[in-house]
Amino acid sequence: MVSFHPDSKFLTDFAAGNLPLSEAVCVAAHLEFCSKCRSHVQQLSDVAAQMMARLEPVVADEDGFDTLMQRIEAGESTPQPARSAAQRASAASGATTMPLVVQKLAKGGLQNMSWVQLGRSLRIAPVNVGCKDRQTAIYDIKAGGRMPEHEHRGEEITVLLKGSFSDAEGKYVRGDFVVRHAGERHQPTATLDTDCICLVSLAEPVKPTSFWYRLLEPFVQYRLSGFSN
Ligand SMILES: [Zn+2]
Repeated sequence: MVSFHPDSKFLTDFAAGNLPLSEAVCVAAHLEFCSKCRSHVQQLSDVAAQMMARLEPVVADEDGFDTLMQRIEAGESTPQPARSAAQRASAASGATTMPLVVQKLAKGGLQNMSWVQLGRSLRIAPVNVGCKDRQTAIYDIKAGGRMPEHEHRGEEITVLLKGSFSDAEGKYVRGDFVVRHAGERHQPTATLDTDCICLVSLAEPVKPTSFWYRLLEPFVQYRLSGFSN
C-alpha cells in the first residue's frame, strides 16, 4: 500500500501547471498509483479553474498570466496521469507495468534506455525532460543490492515503480513518493525478492560518503552530466 505522498505544495503546483517537468513527471507517476492524491489534484484544478475565471477580468493584462494559461492549456508542465480506470488499475496492480508517464519517457521501453552500470547492484538510465536544473533518471537496483551510502546536496524525489527498498528511515513500496533533503544521508537497500526500479529527480549530484564510491565520483559526474543536457 502506498504510504508516502507528495506534500500539498507539490500537488498545488502540479495542478496549476507550475511544477518544473522533472518534478512534475514524478508527481504524475505517483498519481497513477494513488487515488487519494488524484482526487486532491482534481479538486485543486477545479478550484484553480474557478479562481482563474473570477480573476480573469482583473489580471488578464498582467505579464505572465497569459503565458501561464498557455502553459496549462498546452499541458507543457502538467504531464497527465493515466486516463482510463483500466490503465490505472493495471499500473496499480500489475507487477511489472510501468506508469504511462514512465512508458512515455522510456519511449522504446526500459531495456532500450542508455544504462550506465555503477558497481554490481546499481544501473542508471538518464532521462531527458529538458530540465537543466535537475537530473532525471531511472534507477535499477538489483534484488538485495545495496547502494553506496551517500549524502544529498539538494532535494531528491524518488518514486518507486517496481519492487521495494528500505533505509534507516523505513521501507518503501511501489507508488511511494519519497523526498530527501540536502544534508540527509542514507543507504537504500533493495529487498531480496525482486529488483527495485525507481524514477528519480535530483536537484544536485549526491555526495558519496564511502571511500571506494568517492573514487568513482568523477566518472559518475561525467557520465550523468553528459546526459543531462
Ligand atoms: Zn498519494
